[in-house]
Amino acid sequence: MASRIFKDKGLVLRTKVIGEADRLVTLLTLENGKIEAVARGARKMKSKLAAGVDIFTSGEYTFHRGKTWPVITSQNPVERFLWFRDDPDLYPYGLYLSELTDRLIFGEEPCPKPYQLLLSGWRLLGEGGDRALILRAFELKLFDSLGYSPGLDYCQGCGSEQTKGFSPKEGNLICDRCRCADFIALQSGTIALARRLLQSPLQQVGMIRPSARQKEELARMNSNFIAYHLDLGELKSKRLLKE
Ligand SMILES: [Zn+2]
Repeated sequence: MASRIFKDKGLVLRTKVIGEADRLVTLLTLENGKIEAVARGARKMKSKLAAGVDIFTSGEYTFHRGKTWPVITSQNPVERFLWFRDDPDLYPYGLYLSELTDRLIFGEEPCPKPYQLLLSGWRLLGEGGDRALILRAFELKLFDSLGYSPGLDYCQGCGSEQTKGFSPKEGNLICDRCRCADFIALQSGTIALARRLLQSPLQQVGMIRPSARQKEELARMNSNFIAYHLDLGELKSKRLLKE
């Protein structure tokens, strides 16, 4: 049986008001996966918990496993990504990384790769650079870390390396001869871009300079792939990004 008191590093994905002064905090932790925990009194002005349980915080937390939700008994915020709060244009980009992570990860299995990816993504967005490209790289790398990576090596139908597009349904590149109903045509540069984003550390996104068309094609490939395979429901960040 799990220890009743445990410590872990965590990233705050989401918080919800419960009761008069409490918050229900959803964290992606380094060693315990996704945890929903109660921060008692976190909405009171003088609360010692308040600063560490805001969305876009990276911190160290102590949890006490109660009968229902674990309770956060202490916290030490290490990094607070205040640029998302201070810049309304940047906010939906950071929120999208949080929401996508939240929707794709279930349960308390350790998931160190998504943890590091989200931490890097929040940092990179605040440091400037190509926001849309950071999102595309994050999508590909998050899918990959969870075992849902699109197949970017050869045609799903015949194994040819002369691929010309992507099938969201197959989740794979497709050649001209094997074109299927949902075929999305891609320039060879877009295919190379997708491979490079998947293979490079997220921190290296700033060294990649794709064309506007390659970015558009990759956005279409990723969003159709997500829509076909994953039921994400309505994301607030997607709505804000469209506006
Ligand atoms: Zn083929």
